[in-house]
Amino acid sequence: MKIVVTGGAGFIGSNLIRALTDSPRITEVVAVDDLSTGSLDNLLDLPVRLVTGTILDPGVLDEAMSGADSVVHLGALGSVPRSIDDPLSSHHANATGTLQVLEAVRRHLIPHVVLASSSSVYGVNPVLPRQEALRPRPVSPYAVSKLATEAYALAYAACYGVEVLPFRFFNVYGPRQAANHAYAAVVPRFVSAALDGRPLQVHGDGTQTRDFTFVGSVTSVIVEAILRRVSTPDVVNLAFGARISLVELIAELEAVLGRRLEVVYGPPRSGDVRDSQADCSRLRELFPAVNGHPLRDGLEATVAWMAGRVLADR
Ligand code: NAD
Repeated sequence: MKIVVTGGAGFIGSNLIRALTDSPRITEVVAVDDLSTGSLDNLLDLPVRLVTGTILDPGVLDEAMSGADSVVHLGALGSVPRSIDDPLSSHHANATGTLQVLEAVRRHLIPHVVLASSSSVYGVNPVLPRQEALRPRPVSPYAVSKLATEAYALAYAACYGVEVLPFRFFNVYGPRQAANHAYAAVVPRFVSAALDGRPLQVHGDGTQTRDFTFVGSVTSVIVEAILRRVSTPDVVNLAFGARISLVELIAELEAVLGRRLEVVYGPPRSGDVRDSQADCSRLRELFPAVNGHPLRDGLEATVAWMAGRVLADR
């Protein structure tokens, strides 16, 4: 099988490519990435062809896609705060980018597409856990662009018969997640600060909750989805129903590191949702064998990887 991964040099993409290349049935993997937030380091030593360029360029997509059995579309500009600073760039990469990917899928008659949407689409809808049928109430340009991603996918299924599987990822974390940029996610920010001996910066009082999902759980589901060519007539939450506050996350990190951490509390950020927890019944129906990794194990793997990076940089 030939698989194309957009955003393949990024955090989830590069972990996915590792998992794909371990499967004997997958014989060719092509990554498409403009290296805007991803990095070549993430793909070092992997048997993958990288087409460097933007998903907004149909020529770049044509170079990658011919003969593919599935496309996993992860290429996007992540981060709520980034989208608040620069909504148009997020819209172009995430909404128009998805449309370009789906057009390439149509041109090359590719039968199956897995896509990444986000739990941020639930926004200020107060109902927990987040069941897919809840009305989306996005409160950031990023969340709107992800709602467009999943809506375009479902429209292409209806209009052109493409088999699609739009996932809503929750807070994914693990090795190879970037820590050192302005829009870094909370887990790599905390782990990096803890390893460097800096205080952990919390936006708000730390009681906000997230469904932290280890990247290995996400990639197991996607690999199975490709091998069994799973598609759905609607979106699917890809998380396992944890509801962990930042205060609890810090306590787990302290347990993994075996020491107390200094924490600094600041004002909450606009666009951030208060609580997030997936209803995972739909995921469990489709993938009964897949389980989420416990937070402790996932944090240990993340700390081990990041500590290795810190040593390598010295
Ligand atoms: P990431 O930033 O590490 O990866 C995204 C990749 O897309 C990067 O390698 C980047 O260079 C590439 N990219 C961006 N714009 C591009 C463009 N125009 N053309 C080609 N490549 C482009 O982020 P990630 O955490 O690995 O996220 C992967 C996907 O999952 C994204 O679609 C993101 O919105 C979604 N998602 C992630 C999370 C999470 O917690 N990490 C949560 C919800 C949804």
